[in-house]
This record gives sequence, C-alpha cells and structure tokens, in this order.
Amino acid sequence: MEQFDVLVIGGGAAGLFCALTAGQRGRRVLVVEHANRVGKKILMSGGGRCNFTNTGTSPANYLSANPHFCKSALARYSPAHFVELVERHGIAYHEKELGQLFCDDSSKQIVRMLLDECDAAGVRIATGCGIEQVTRREDGLFGLQTAHGLFAGASLVVASGGLSIPSMGASGFGYDLARQFGHRVLPLRAGLVPLTLSGTHQARLADLSGVALPVEARCNGVRFSNQMLVTHRGLSGPS
Ligand SMILES: Cc1cc2nc3c(=O)[nH]c(=O)nc-3n(C[C@H](O)[C@H](O)[C@H](O)COP(=O)(O)OP(=O)(O)OC[C@H]3O[C@@H](n4cnc5c(N)ncnc54)[C@H](O)[C@@H]3O)c2cc1C
Repeated sequence: MEQFDVLVIGGGAAGLFCALTAGQRGRRVLVVEHANRVGKKILMSGGGRCNFTNTGTSPANYLSANPHFCKSALARYSPAHFVELVERHGIAYHEKELGQLFCDDSSKQIVRMLLDECDAAGVRIATGCGIEQVTRREDGLFGLQTAHGLFAGASLVVASGGLSIPSMGASGFGYDLARQFGHRVLPLRAGLVPLTLSGTHQARLADLSGVALPVEARCNGVRFSNQMLVTHRGLSGPS
C-alpha cells in the first residue's frame, strides 16, 4: 500500500488543477484516472482551442443555489490569475468576443500546461487506473482499491466530472460515491447542452441553419445576452 496526503479521483480540468495546487502546497498527491489519458474533455473544449477563461467573469454570471460559493471562489482565483499562468507557459491566445479567451493553436497546450504544473509540483498521475472500492479506514485515511493496487490518503477529492459525453470517460461515479459517504445528492439536470427541436419548430428554423445572432434569453427573472446558433437540429451556442 502506498500513502499520500491527497488522493484525487479524476484527471479532468478540476482534478488536475486541484492536484497541482495541493502539490504546490507541499502535499504528496496522486491523481487516479480511469481513462487512458487525462484532460480529454479539455481537448475537445472550445472547438479544439479551449475557451480557457472569460475576462468579464463575475459572480453575476452564475446561477447557483449557493451564490456565495462563486463569490469566494472568484475572489481567491480570478480569470487574471489563469491568464497569468497561460502567459507564463508561453501559450499564445486571442479574445474572440465578449471577453472569451481562446488558444491561438490548440487545447492540447492547456492540457500540457496543467501536466507540466503537476509535474513541477511532484504530483503523480495514474492513468488507465480503474477504481474498485473506496473506503474510510479505521485509521481515518481514505482507501482506494484500484487496478494499480491499494492507495491510502488523508484527503480524498472527487473530481470525476458530470455525466456528459461518456465516451470521454464521464461516469456517474462521483454521485454514487457521494451517496456512499452519506451526502445528499440533488436531482441531476442537464446543463450547457444544445436544445433539440422537432416538428414545426424545427421546420420553421431549417433555412436558418448555420446562422448565429446575438440574443437575450430570459428565464425565471434571470437574463443572459450572448450569441445563439441555429443548427440543423435546433439551437446551440457557437463554439
Ligand atoms: C464539447 C464541449 C466543449 C466545451 N468547451 C468549453 C470551453 O471552451 N471552455 C470551458 O471552460 N468549458 C468548456 N466545456 C466544459 C468543460 O469541458 C467542462 O466543464 C470541464 O472539462 C469539466 O471538468 P471536470 O474536471 O469537472 O470533469 P471532466 O473533464 O469530465 O473530468 C473528469 C475526469 O474523471 C475521470 N473519471 C470519471 N469517472 C472516474 C472513475 N470512476 N475513476 C477514475 N476517473 C474517473 C474522467 O475520465 C475524466 O477524465 C466544454 C464541454 C464540452 C462537452
């Protein structure tokens, strides 16, 4: 059995960033990723160029049952911090519109940057490492029984992502684990998904497929202004 200070389940954007931050604070960190490589969703983000931040990000952009969470999170780590990191790694970027920053070249650079930061912070990453069991041991440590053996850690971070795009490694593992440890899980709802239309609605918009236009969307007293893209299946946002 190998022991770490922090065990991170999932090597996506959240898991890698958490791991490198813990590593920079001197923690011994292991990231356990069941897919054959980390950061797959980052690779497909922003149409392959990763819209890595938005300079205008503020708590007002978030809808949350706990509005204070994003206030404290953004106060401690702002878009400017991430831009500074990207610049330190020599990644060229541009603003597309409305403060959206994209890599000039490829999302691969963002994954490389996170891996380099993990490496510099001494983070160990185990890919292709399926998890068989998670336990709370008698000594208070968390135990991970995996395809690569047994690991123990004082802290366990569950960063296994949401359900979207299972072909990228997504699973409901995190929700099951939360329930296993007695956490209440709110009903799941899709977020950030295209709207698929059918029947007359789809027929009416068919000729506009491919057209993007600025719209204001309103729901339950909240309004957002941004680009909307008409697709052959319905409505989406341009990437
Ligand atoms: C098409 C598309 C485009 C997008 N574009 C952008 C963009 O431009 N900008 C932006 O900010 N966001 C974008 N997003 C959203 C963004 O990609 C996600 O919000 C982000 O990647 C989520 O990161 P995560 O670490 O929470 O989860 P994930 O990236 O899903 O990472 C979770 C990781 O956990 C692993 N895992 C799951 N179950 C287990 C298990 N049992 N054991 C071990 N490992 C496990 C998975 O394999 C995965 O590597 C886009 C999303 C999509 C689908």
